[in-house]
Amino acid sequence: MEIILKSGEKSSIDQELVNDFAAKLGGVLISASDDNYDEVRQIWNGMHDKKPALIAQCSGVADVVASVNFARENDVLVSIRGGGHNVAGSASNDGGLMIDLSQMKGIRLNAEKGTVYAQGGATLGDLDRETQVLGMAVPGGVVSTTGIAGLTLGGGFGWLRKKYGLSIDNLVSVDIVTPDGKFLTACEKDNSDLFWAVRGGGGNFGVVTSFEYKMYPVGPMVTLCAPFYPAEEADKILPVWTAFVDESPDEVSSTAMFWTIPPVPDFPQEVHGRRVLILSAVHCGSIEEGQRVLQPLREVSTPLVDLSTPIPWTMLQGMFDPFFPKGEQLYYFKSTYLNKLDSPTINALIPKAVHPPQPMILIAIWHIGGAVSRISEDATAFTGRQSNFLFSVDAIWADAGAKDEVITYAREYLADMKAFSPGGLYVNFAGLGEEGVDLVKEAYGKNYDRLSSIKAKYDPGNLFRLNQNIKP
Ligand code: FAD
Repeated sequence: MEIILKSGEKSSIDQELVNDFAAKLGGVLISASDDNYDEVRQIWNGMHDKKPALIAQCSGVADVVASVNFARENDVLVSIRGGGHNVAGSASNDGGLMIDLSQMKGIRLNAEKGTVYAQGGATLGDLDRETQVLGMAVPGGVVSTTGIAGLTLGGGFGWLRKKYGLSIDNLVSVDIVTPDGKFLTACEKDNSDLFWAVRGGGGNFGVVTSFEYKMYPVGPMVTLCAPFYPAEEADKILPVWTAFVDESPDEVSSTAMFWTIPPVPDFPQEVHGRRVLILSAVHCGSIEEGQRVLQPLREVSTPLVDLSTPIPWTMLQGMFDPFFPKGEQLYYFKSTYLNKLDSPTINALIPKAVHPPQPMILIAIWHIGGAVSRISEDATAFTGRQSNFLFSVDAIWADAGAKDEVITYAREYLADMKAFSPGGLYVNFAGLGEEGVDLVKEAYGKNYDRLSSIKAKYDPGNLFRLNQNIKP
C-alpha cells in the first residue's frame, strides 16, 4: 500500500505489516476501501478534505500504543484526532496514519476526590453531561462538540475561566502514550516536566489517552447575559463593557462579540441580517446574585434582542452548536492578545468588526483576568495570562469561493490589531498555522526554549509534527 512518510516522501508499505497492525487493534483499521472511510475521515473544518491512508479507530490505550509503534517503526506520517475541531485541520493528514480517539469517550467521576477522568476522544458535551450528575462542571469551552483533548492541551477558554481558570489550570494528571510507545502518567509529582509541557504545549509530546480534572459545583442553573446591541453603537458600548469586566466578580466570565443575526426563527424577522455587538456574560453563582450583577450590561443602550435568562448549564454549553456544524462550513480562527481597550484600540478594532466580508464572521473579545491571571506565566507552557483580553477573528463562511477574501481580511485585521498587542496568540486560534515555527515561537514566548528541550527528551525524532509544532 502507498503511504506518506513523516518526511513527506511517498513510499510503500508491505500489506502484511498493515495486516499485522490491524490484528493488534481492539478497534478497527480503516482505509479508503471501507464503506465508512469518508464519514470517519471528515473533520470539522469544511476547508479540509484530507485522505489518510489508514485510520486507527482506537478502543483503548493498547490500540494507541500499537498505533504509535506502527507509525514510529515505519516512519509513517501520523496525526492525532481528538474531537476533530482544530481549524488548521491538524487532526488529519494526507496519505499517513490518523490515530482516531473518537471512540474513546469513557468518563469516570470520583465524587470523593472531586475529580473526573475523561478519555481523549470525549467532547465537552460528554464531559458536562456526566459531571452534571453530581452538579459539577470542569472549565472547558463554549461549544459542546469541541474535543476536550485539543482544547485542553492548548489551554481551554470557557465560561468558568475567571472563577476557576483555563482547562489546563484544573488538570490533575494525564495518561499519555509517548512517541517511544511507553504509557506514562504525568502530574505535579511524576514526570512533572511532561505535565508542565502538556498544559499548553498541544499534541507535541504524545497521545493523551485520559485527562483527570478538578471539578466544581456549577448549576444546574447559571445566569446568561446576552443583550444584542446595534454594532454601530460599539464606540459607546465597548468602553462601558471594559469598565464592567474590570470590576466584575470572578463569578462573571464575559466575551464581547460582533456577529450578524442569522435568518432563523429563533430571532424576530425584523432583526435578521443586523450586525450586532453582543455583551455575552455568564455568572456561575446563585441566580439571584447573577441577575443582579449582570443587569448593568443589559442597560448600556436599547438592545435589538436580549437573550438574557437563567439557563441550565448543559443547555448553555450547547447553545452555540447549531452555528458551528461539522464539515458544512469553512472556519479560520486567528488571535492575538490585547492589554487594554482604550480609545485608540477601540477605534482600530471597530471598522472591520462592523463590516466583515461574510456575515457569519464572529469577532470575539474574551475578557481574561481573574483566576487565569493569578497563575504565573512560567507555571505552565501556556502564555498570555497577563493580558486582559484575547482578541479573535473567528471567520466562518459557507461559500468556498470566498476563501481567499476572508482569509486576507482576517490576516489584515490581525495585523492591524497587533499594533495594540503585547504579543502572543492562542495556539488553538492560530489560523492554519501557516507562519510555521515563527507562529509557534510567538505563541509560547519565553516558554518556547523549555518546551523545545522537553520535546527533545520525549520526541527527539519529531514523530508528532502535525500540530503547532515545537522543534526538538
Ligand atoms: P482535534 O482537531 O481533534 O485536535 C487538534 C490537535 O490537538 C491535534 O492535531 C493534536 O495535535 C492535538 N490532539 C488532539 N487530541 C489529542 C490527544 N488525545 N493527545 C494528544 N494530542 C491531541 N477553544 C477554546 O479554548 N474555547 C472555546 O470555547 C472554543 N470553541 C471552539 C468552537 C469551535 C466551533 C471550534 C472549531 C473551535 C473552538 N475552540 C475553542 C478551539 C479548540 O480548542 C481547538 O480547535 C482544539 O484544537 C479542538 O480540540 P479537538 O480535540 O476537537 O481537536
